[in-house]
Amino acid sequence: MSRQNKKKLLSGICYGVIALSAIVICVFFVNVIENRRNVHAVDNTTLQTPEQGGYVGEDGAVTQLPETEQETEATKSETGTTKKENGTTKKETTSRAPATEPPKTTEQGQGNQGHNGKGKVIYLTFDDGPTAVTDDVLTVLDRYKVKATFFVIYQKGGEERLREIQRRGHTIGLHSYSHKYNEVYASTDAFFEDLQKVSDYVEGATGIKSKLIRFPGGSSNEVSKKYSPGIMTKLVPMVKEKGYVYFDWNCENGDANGNNISPRSLVEKTIKTAPKSANHICVLMHDGPGKKTTAQALPGIIEYFRDAGYAFESLNMNSYAVHHAIHN
Ligand SMILES: [Zn+2]
Repeated sequence: MSRQNKKKLLSGICYGVIALSAIVICVFFVNVIENRRNVHAVDNTTLQTPEQGGYVGEDGAVTQLPETEQETEATKSETGTTKKENGTTKKETTSRAPATEPPKTTEQGQGNQGHNGKGKVIYLTFDDGPTAVTDDVLTVLDRYKVKATFFVIYQKGGEERLREIQRRGHTIGLHSYSHKYNEVYASTDAFFEDLQKVSDYVEGATGIKSKLIRFPGGSSNEVSKKYSPGIMTKLVPMVKEKGYVYFDWNCENGDANGNNISPRSLVEKTIKTAPKSANHICVLMHDGPGKKTTAQALPGIIEYFRDAGYAFESLNMNSYAVHHAIHN
Protein backbone atom coordinates (compact mmCIF):
# COMPACT_ATOMS: atom_id res chain seq x y z
CA MET A 1 0.00 0.00 0.00
CA SER A 2 1.40 3.32 -0.95
CA ARG A 3 1.88 6.01 1.60
CA GLN A 4 -0.87 7.98 -0.01
CA ASN A 5 -3.26 5.11 0.17
CA LYS A 6 -2.36 4.58 3.80
CA LYS A 7 -3.17 8.20 4.47
CA LYS A 8 -6.48 7.86 2.74
CA LEU A 9 -7.28 4.75 4.70
CA LEU A 10 -6.37 6.42 7.96
CA SER A 11 -8.41 9.50 7.29
CA GLY A 12 -11.28 7.29 6.19
CA ILE A 13 -11.13 5.46 9.49
CA CYS A 14 -11.01 8.77 11.34
CA TYR A 15 -14.09 10.06 9.56
CA GLY A 16 -15.83 6.79 10.26
CA VAL A 17 -15.06 7.02 13.95
CA ILE A 18 -16.24 10.62 14.08
CA ALA A 19 -19.47 9.76 12.29
CA LEU A 20 -20.11 6.83 14.62
CA SER A 21 -19.44 8.98 17.64
CA ALA A 22 -21.89 11.56 16.38
CA ILE A 23 -24.54 8.90 15.95
CA VAL A 24 -23.93 7.51 19.42
CA ILE A 25 -24.18 10.99 20.94
CA CYS A 26 -27.41 11.68 19.09
CA VAL A 27 -28.95 8.42 20.24
CA PHE A 28 -27.89 9.21 23.77
CA PHE A 29 -29.61 12.58 23.78
CA VAL A 30 -32.72 11.22 22.18
CA ASN A 31 -32.91 8.68 24.98
CA VAL A 32 -32.41 11.31 27.63
CA ILE A 33 -35.21 13.38 26.18
CA GLU A 34 -37.49 10.36 25.98
CA ASN A 35 -36.79 9.50 29.58
CA ARG A 36 -37.61 12.98 30.68
CA ARG A 37 -40.88 12.79 28.90
CA ASN A 38 -41.67 9.54 30.58
CA VAL A 39 -40.90 10.95 33.94
CA HIS A 40 -43.33 13.74 33.37
CA ALA A 41 -45.97 11.40 32.19
CA VAL A 42 -45.55 9.37 35.30
CA ASP A 43 -45.72 12.43 37.44
CA ASN A 44 -48.95 13.44 36.00
CA THR A 45 -50.64 10.22 36.64
CA THR A 46 -48.97 8.78 39.57
CA LEU A 47 -47.91 11.60 41.65
CA GLN A 48 -49.36 12.10 44.90
CA THR A 49 -50.18 14.64 47.26
CA PRO A 50 -47.43 16.39 48.89
CA GLU A 51 -48.48 14.94 52.12
CA GLN A 52 -48.97 11.43 51.19
CA GLY A 53 -49.55 9.50 48.48
CA GLY A 54 -50.78 8.43 45.43
CA TYR A 55 -53.52 9.15 43.43
CA VAL A 56 -55.12 7.47 40.65
CA GLY A 57 -57.49 8.82 38.31
CA GLU A 58 -60.97 8.66 37.64
CA ASP A 59 -62.73 5.55 38.35
CA GLY A 60 -59.88 3.45 39.10
CA ALA A 61 -58.83 6.23 41.13
CA VAL A 62 -56.35 5.32 43.64
CA THR A 63 -55.29 8.08 45.70
CA GLN A 64 -54.32 8.07 49.18
CA LEU A 65 -54.64 10.57 51.82
CA PRO A 66 -54.92 9.36 55.25
CA GLU A 67 -53.97 12.21 57.38
CA THR A 68 -57.10 13.98 56.84
CA GLU A 69 -59.54 11.70 58.19
CA GLN A 70 -57.58 11.19 61.23
CA GLU A 71 -58.50 14.68 61.69
CA THR A 72 -61.96 13.68 61.73
CA GLU A 73 -61.21 11.49 64.55
CA ALA A 74 -59.57 14.25 66.37
CA THR A 75 -62.43 16.46 65.65
CA LYS A 76 -64.92 14.08 66.82
CA SER A 77 -63.25 13.23 70.01
CA GLU A 78 -62.73 16.81 70.77
CA THR A 79 -66.20 17.51 70.13
CA GLY A 80 -67.43 14.74 72.15
CA THR A 81 -69.92 14.83 69.48
CA THR A 82 -72.45 12.23 69.48
CA LYS A 83 -73.25 11.80 65.98
CA LYS A 84 -73.09 13.58 62.83
CA GLU A 85 -74.32 13.37 59.43
CA ASN A 86 -74.89 15.16 56.27
CA GLY A 87 -76.72 14.63 53.14
CA THR A 88 -77.01 16.10 49.83
CA THR A 89 -78.20 15.15 46.53
CA LYS A 90 -75.45 15.19 44.17
CA LYS A 91 -72.59 13.14 43.24
CA GLU A 92 -69.48 13.55 41.41
CA THR A 93 -66.46 11.81 40.42
CA THR A 94 -63.07 13.07 40.61
CA SER A 95 -59.69 11.87 40.89
CA ARG A 96 -57.38 13.63 42.97
CA ALA A 97 -54.26 14.97 41.72
CA PRO A 98 -51.46 15.88 43.82
CA ALA A 99 -48.76 17.99 42.66
CA THR A 100 -49.73 17.65 39.16
CA GLU A 101 -52.85 17.80 37.30
CA PRO A 102 -55.53 15.52 38.17
CA PRO A 103 -56.87 13.25 35.61
CA LYS A 104 -60.37 13.99 34.86
CA THR A 105 -63.18 12.06 35.97
CA THR A 106 -65.27 10.28 33.65
CA GLU A 107 -67.82 8.55 35.61
CA GLN A 108 -70.60 10.86 35.04
CA GLY A 109 -69.44 11.67 31.65
CA GLN A 110 -69.80 15.23 32.51
CA GLY A 111 -67.43 17.44 34.13
CA ASN A 112 -67.29 20.94 35.14
CA GLN A 113 -67.45 23.61 32.65
CA GLY A 114 -64.68 26.00 32.46
CA HIS A 115 -64.72 28.95 34.71
CA ASN A 116 -63.20 32.30 34.37
CA GLY A 117 -62.21 31.13 30.97
CA LYS A 118 -59.61 28.93 32.48
CA GLY A 119 -61.58 25.95 33.60
CA LYS A 120 -59.95 25.78 36.98
CA VAL A 121 -62.29 24.83 39.78
CA ILE A 122 -61.85 24.59 43.52
CA TYR A 123 -64.25 22.87 45.89
CA LEU A 124 -64.26 23.96 49.51
CA THR A 125 -65.53 21.15 51.74
CA PHE A 126 -66.28 21.17 55.44
CA ASP A 127 -66.60 17.99 57.48
CA ASP A 128 -68.02 17.21 60.91
CA GLY A 129 -70.52 20.04 61.26
CA PRO A 130 -72.87 21.65 61.59
CA THR A 131 -71.85 23.60 64.67
CA ALA A 132 -71.44 27.23 65.66
CA VAL A 133 -68.35 27.28 63.46
CA THR A 134 -70.64 26.62 60.51
CA ASP A 135 -72.38 29.94 61.18
CA ASP A 136 -69.09 31.80 60.78
CA VAL A 137 -68.16 29.81 57.71
CA LEU A 138 -71.50 30.62 56.09
CA THR A 139 -71.01 34.32 56.77
CA VAL A 140 -67.62 34.34 55.06
CA LEU A 141 -68.90 32.32 52.11
CA ASP A 142 -71.72 34.80 51.64
CA ARG A 143 -69.38 37.72 51.79
CA TYR A 144 -67.35 36.28 48.91
CA LYS A 145 -70.40 34.87 47.13
CA VAL A 146 -68.83 31.44 47.17
CA LYS A 147 -70.67 28.10 47.32
CA ALA A 148 -69.24 25.17 49.26
CA THR A 149 -70.04 21.64 50.41
CA PHE A 150 -70.72 20.40 53.93
CA PHE A 151 -70.24 16.71 54.73
CA VAL A 152 -72.26 16.60 57.90
CA ILE A 153 -72.56 14.32 60.86
CA TYR A 154 -75.24 14.15 63.50
CA GLN A 155 -74.97 17.17 65.72
CA LYS A 156 -77.63 17.56 68.34
CA GLY A 157 -79.87 20.48 67.48
CA GLY A 158 -78.16 20.87 64.14
CA GLU A 159 -81.35 20.79 62.09
CA GLU A 160 -81.73 24.54 61.85
CA ARG A 161 -78.14 24.88 60.70
CA LEU A 162 -78.69 22.22 58.06
CA ARG A 163 -81.60 24.25 56.77
CA GLU A 164 -79.46 27.38 56.78
CA ILE A 165 -76.79 25.65 54.69
CA GLN A 166 -79.51 24.64 52.28
CA ARG A 167 -81.12 28.11 52.21
CA ARG A 168 -77.85 29.70 51.29
CA GLY A 169 -77.40 27.41 48.34
CA HIS A 170 -74.62 25.15 49.49
CA THR A 171 -74.42 21.39 49.09
CA ILE A 172 -75.03 19.01 51.97
CA GLY A 173 -73.20 15.70 51.77
CA LEU A 174 -73.26 12.76 54.19
CA HIS A 175 -70.28 11.99 56.36
CA SER A 176 -71.41 9.82 59.27
CA TYR A 177 -74.00 9.73 62.01
CA SER A 178 -71.81 8.67 64.91
CA HIS A 179 -68.41 9.34 63.36
CA LYS A 180 -67.08 6.66 65.67
CA TYR A 181 -64.67 4.55 63.70
CA ASN A 182 -65.17 1.48 65.79
CA GLU A 183 -68.89 1.59 65.07
CA VAL A 184 -68.90 2.85 61.51
CA TYR A 185 -66.29 0.36 60.35
CA ALA A 186 -67.39 -2.58 62.47
CA SER A 187 -68.82 -4.19 59.32
CA THR A 188 -70.26 -3.19 55.96
CA ASP A 189 -73.73 -3.51 57.44
CA ALA A 190 -72.78 -1.22 60.30
CA PHE A 191 -71.39 1.29 57.81
CA PHE A 192 -74.60 1.46 55.80
CA GLU A 193 -76.70 1.58 58.92
CA ASP A 194 -74.78 4.60 60.11
CA LEU A 195 -74.97 6.19 56.67
CA GLN A 196 -78.72 5.69 56.53
CA LYS A 197 -79.09 7.37 59.89
CA VAL A 198 -77.26 10.48 58.77
CA SER A 199 -79.20 10.41 55.58
CA ASP A 200 -82.47 10.33 57.51
CA TYR A 201 -81.28 13.10 59.79
CA VAL A 202 -80.52 15.36 56.84
CA GLU A 203 -83.67 14.46 55.00
CA GLY A 204 -85.75 15.04 58.09
CA ALA A 205 -84.34 18.53 58.49
CA THR A 206 -84.14 19.62 54.87
CA GLY A 207 -86.05 17.21 52.70
CA ILE A 208 -82.81 16.54 50.86
CA LYS A 209 -81.88 12.95 50.09
CA SER A 210 -78.18 13.36 49.62
CA LYS A 211 -76.19 10.81 47.66
CA LEU A 212 -72.87 12.54 48.08
CA ILE A 213 -70.72 11.03 50.77
CA ARG A 214 -67.33 11.32 52.37
CA PHE A 215 -65.99 8.32 54.23
CA PRO A 216 -64.89 9.04 57.79
CA GLY A 217 -61.13 9.16 57.40
CA GLY A 218 -61.45 9.19 53.62
CA SER A 219 -61.44 6.11 51.41
CA SER A 220 -57.70 5.80 52.08
CA ASN A 221 -58.07 5.50 55.84
CA GLU A 222 -56.24 2.72 57.59
CA VAL A 223 -57.97 3.18 60.89
CA SER A 224 -60.73 0.88 59.70
CA LYS A 225 -58.22 -1.94 59.40
CA LYS A 226 -58.29 -2.20 63.14
CA TYR A 227 -61.99 -3.00 63.13
CA SER A 228 -62.48 -4.71 59.78
CA PRO A 229 -59.54 -5.69 57.62
CA GLY A 230 -60.38 -5.11 53.98
CA ILE A 231 -63.55 -3.19 54.61
CA MET A 232 -62.68 -0.15 52.46
CA THR A 233 -62.00 -2.39 49.48
CA LYS A 234 -65.52 -3.74 49.89
CA LEU A 235 -67.22 -0.44 50.65
CA VAL A 236 -65.97 1.51 47.64
CA PRO A 237 -67.80 -0.62 45.05
CA MET A 238 -70.75 -1.06 47.40
CA VAL A 239 -71.45 2.63 47.82
CA LYS A 240 -71.33 3.07 44.05
CA GLU A 241 -73.78 0.22 43.56
CA LYS A 242 -76.13 1.89 45.99
CA GLY A 243 -76.02 5.10 44.01
CA TYR A 244 -73.69 7.16 46.15
CA VAL A 245 -70.76 9.16 44.92
CA TYR A 246 -67.88 9.54 47.32
CA PHE A 247 -65.43 12.38 47.52
CA ASP A 248 -61.95 12.43 48.97
CA TRP A 249 -59.68 15.47 48.72
CA ASN A 250 -56.36 16.54 47.25
CA CYS A 251 -55.71 19.54 49.45
CA GLU A 252 -56.23 20.33 53.11
CA ASN A 253 -56.02 23.28 55.43
CA GLY A 254 -54.60 21.20 58.26
CA ASP A 255 -57.30 22.00 60.79
CA ALA A 256 -57.56 18.31 61.52
CA ASN A 257 -54.27 18.51 63.30
CA GLY A 258 -55.67 20.41 66.23
CA ASN A 259 -57.81 23.26 67.43
CA ASN A 260 -56.94 26.92 67.42
CA ILE A 261 -54.30 26.56 64.74
CA SER A 262 -53.53 30.07 63.55
CA PRO A 263 -55.47 31.23 60.50
CA ARG A 264 -52.20 32.03 58.82
CA SER A 265 -50.96 28.46 59.24
CA LEU A 266 -54.21 27.15 57.83
CA VAL A 267 -53.92 29.37 54.76
CA GLU A 268 -50.31 28.39 54.22
CA LYS A 269 -51.06 24.70 54.60
CA THR A 270 -53.84 24.94 52.06
CA ILE A 271 -51.61 26.62 49.51
CA LYS A 272 -48.80 24.19 50.18
CA THR A 273 -50.89 21.05 49.79
CA ALA A 274 -52.83 22.19 46.73
CA PRO A 275 -51.77 20.34 43.60
CA LYS A 276 -49.94 22.85 41.47
CA SER A 277 -51.74 24.04 38.39
CA ALA A 278 -54.46 21.47 38.86
CA ASN A 279 -57.77 22.07 37.18
CA HIS A 280 -59.62 20.64 40.16
CA ILE A 281 -58.79 21.18 43.77
CA CYS A 282 -60.88 19.72 46.57
CA VAL A 283 -59.98 21.20 49.94
CA LEU A 284 -60.63 19.34 53.16
CA MET A 285 -61.59 21.53 56.10
CA HIS A 286 -63.66 21.06 59.24
CA ASP A 287 -66.50 22.96 60.81
CA GLY A 288 -66.73 20.72 63.81
CA PRO A 289 -66.50 22.10 67.33
CA GLY A 290 -63.24 23.78 68.13
CA LYS A 291 -62.47 24.77 64.55
CA LYS A 292 -63.12 28.46 64.97
CA THR A 293 -59.94 29.48 63.17
CA THR A 294 -61.04 27.57 60.10
CA ALA A 295 -63.62 30.27 59.43
CA GLN A 296 -61.04 32.96 60.15
CA ALA A 297 -58.64 31.49 57.60
CA LEU A 298 -61.29 31.25 54.92
CA PRO A 299 -60.91 34.79 53.51
CA GLY A 300 -57.19 34.24 52.92
CA ILE A 301 -57.84 30.91 51.21
CA ILE A 302 -60.63 32.24 49.03
CA GLU A 303 -58.68 35.31 47.98
CA TYR A 304 -55.58 33.31 47.11
CA PHE A 305 -57.35 30.85 44.84
CA ARG A 306 -59.67 33.45 43.38
CA ASP A 307 -56.62 35.47 42.37
CA ALA A 308 -55.07 32.32 40.91
CA GLY A 309 -58.03 32.05 38.55
CA TYR A 310 -60.07 29.36 40.26
CA ALA A 311 -63.85 29.31 40.27
CA PHE A 312 -65.54 28.10 43.44
CA GLU A 313 -68.18 25.44 43.10
CA SER A 314 -70.18 23.28 45.42
CA LEU A 315 -70.09 19.57 44.65
CA ASN A 316 -72.82 17.69 42.86
CA MET A 317 -73.23 14.20 41.49
CA ASN A 318 -71.38 15.15 38.32
CA SER A 319 -68.53 17.05 39.83
CA TYR A 320 -64.98 15.96 39.47
CA ALA A 321 -64.37 13.55 42.34
CA VAL A 322 -60.98 13.16 43.88
CA HIS A 323 -60.42 9.58 45.00
CA HIS A 324 -57.61 8.27 47.14
CA ALA A 325 -55.82 4.97 46.87
CA ILE A 326 -57.37 2.36 49.09
CA HIS A 327 -55.18 1.03 51.89
CA ASN A 328 -57.51 -1.37 53.57
ZN1 LIG B 1 -64.90 13.60 59.81
